[in-house]
Amino acid sequence: MDREKLLEGKAIAARINQIVKNEVLELKKTYFFEPVLCAIQVGDDKESSLYLDFQQKIARKLAIGYKVRKLAADTDRDGLIAVIEELNRDSSINGIILQLPLPGHLKANDIRNCIDPRKDVEGVHPENLGKIILNEKGLAPCTACAVMELLSTLNIDLYGKEAVIVGHSEIVGKPLAAMMLNAFCTTTICHIATSERGLLAEHVKRAEILVVAVGKPGVVKGEWIKKDAIVVDVGINYVDEKIVGDVEFEKAYEKASYITPVPGGVGPITVALLMRNLLKAAKEQKQEDK
Ligand code: NAD
Repeated sequence: MDREKLLEGKAIAARINQIVKNEVLELKKTYFFEPVLCAIQVGDDKESSLYLDFQQKIARKLAIGYKVRKLAADTDRDGLIAVIEELNRDSSINGIILQLPLPGHLKANDIRNCIDPRKDVEGVHPENLGKIILNEKGLAPCTACAVMELLSTLNIDLYGKEAVIVGHSEIVGKPLAAMMLNAFCTTTICHIATSERGLLAEHVKRAEILVVAVGKPGVVKGEWIKKDAIVVDVGINYVDEKIVGDVEFEKAYEKASYITPVPGGVGPITVALLMRNLLKAAKEQKQEDK
């Protein structure tokens, strides 16, 4: 397999990380000010812990402070909200991440609403999600932004392109659909009901830009890919101790003009954009303090 069709995220992430690091070092030198990110983890989900370690590694590399508040799996809603409110008030914390999954008795959307939108570096608070609909600047969800960042490196005109997004989650599919509409793509969102009616293949076959964020390996068949389509696979699935995406990669590779590898596509950019959001939030908070 030649690599020329691969839409890799590592170099893009490295470029963003370098810009963020330079600015963080400048803030430290000029204002003796260190941006700090705090992740809240309820329980000890294994994958979530791995992701925390990865975030921490990148934060260290970028000279960003990183703290973790680990809470017991049986922490109730009031207890969790009390911690969030404490972090909202703490001026030494600039960004708050609510690590998912939460234990079953806690509802992510309900809890996210309690994060101060100025510290919502994952861009999941209703105020920040609403800004995307209005095409206003704010703290936008990192994975949806990562997809747009990847597409922007291809220098293609998105105007009027047939974009199909498979997956309609609040953090990926829905905000990404709004971003694509803002770019004037003709945008279709597919989800579980599309598959259940047997219509997924029909929609995917039309896609000039296809983004898949489902979490089921092989949910999109390689033979469905339109010739020369751009394929962005957001899915992360563990199969036989290997990480794979949602699209049948080998067959899709034959037909696509560009396709993201999994791992190494969207993932590294997502974390880089999380740190960029943190820097942005920290600078705005510093500005408000003046
Ligand atoms: P989610 O689990 O909240 O939602 C899944 C979506 O897929 C829903 O819209 C559902 O209707 C749809 N779906 C389920 N089965 C389907 C089917 N058979 N056909 C069509 N649609 C179907 O999703 P999420 O949180 O957006 O995560 C999706 C995937 O993306 C997961 O694998 C997750 O690990 C991955 N992810 C990756 C990153 C990254 O940085 N690379 C970030 C976030 C999520």
